[in-house]
Amino acid sequence: MTEAQQETYEAILRETDHYKASLVAVSKTHPNEAIESLYAKGQRDFGENRVQELADKYEQLPKDIRWHFIGHLQRNKVKYIAPFVHLIHGVDSPRLLRAIAKEGRKNNRAIDVLLQFHIAQEESKFGFDWAEAKDLLDHLQKEPLEGVRIVGVMGMATYTDHDEQIAEEFATLSAVFERIKTNYFADAEYFREVSMGMSGDYPLALQHGSTMVRIGSLLFGARKK
Ligand SMILES: *Cc1c(COP(=O)(O)O)cnc(C)c1O
Repeated sequence: MTEAQQETYEAILRETDHYKASLVAVSKTHPNEAIESLYAKGQRDFGENRVQELADKYEQLPKDIRWHFIGHLQRNKVKYIAPFVHLIHGVDSPRLLRAIAKEGRKNNRAIDVLLQFHIAQEESKFGFDWAEAKDLLDHLQKEPLEGVRIVGVMGMATYTDHDEQIAEEFATLSAVFERIKTNYFADAEYFREVSMGMSGDYPLALQHGSTMVRIGSLLFGARKK
């Protein structure tokens, strides 16, 4: 780890600490050594977006790492990460939620997940809108699902340099979080995460209610395509 990277890491931690938010170091595509050097500095939360890569790294690296799955997850691959994953960020359909619950039950655990919301203007971003989420949450109130626990929401802002637009999208996700909390999880302390903010936009995310930022390239350098 270069001195500059170390300084960047410490600067990000000061910012997240200030907002009482946590940092998920997004290590996808980067080798174990890169993870180990941040681990040595005390970092325990790491994020990956490929099932195979995550399973391999889990095997090879210290067992007290909290592994976050941050990408689009296919239902048939949930089983490979179900025994150990700490948090699945991108749950974007009822079918995926049910698939995760099923694997959670097989492993005698409840897997923590975040509901992903579509907040960006881009077409390609996955996620629920309010009506879809409401349908799901109403249904779960009547028929609770064992094997899974919804602990918050996640979203990605539009990739743009219009800060006002990004800020508005983050504020929207925070409002969605509050609305769900009030209506469905008022007494559940575990429902508390708003996962938003990446290398390019995390300061705005923190200002607008993020509890968890997911930062890759700023910490580890650019990813190879
Ligand atoms: C890759 C990725 C990140 C990190 O992106 P950077 O711009 O490198 O910080 C965050 N969230 C998700 C969902 C990602 O896929």
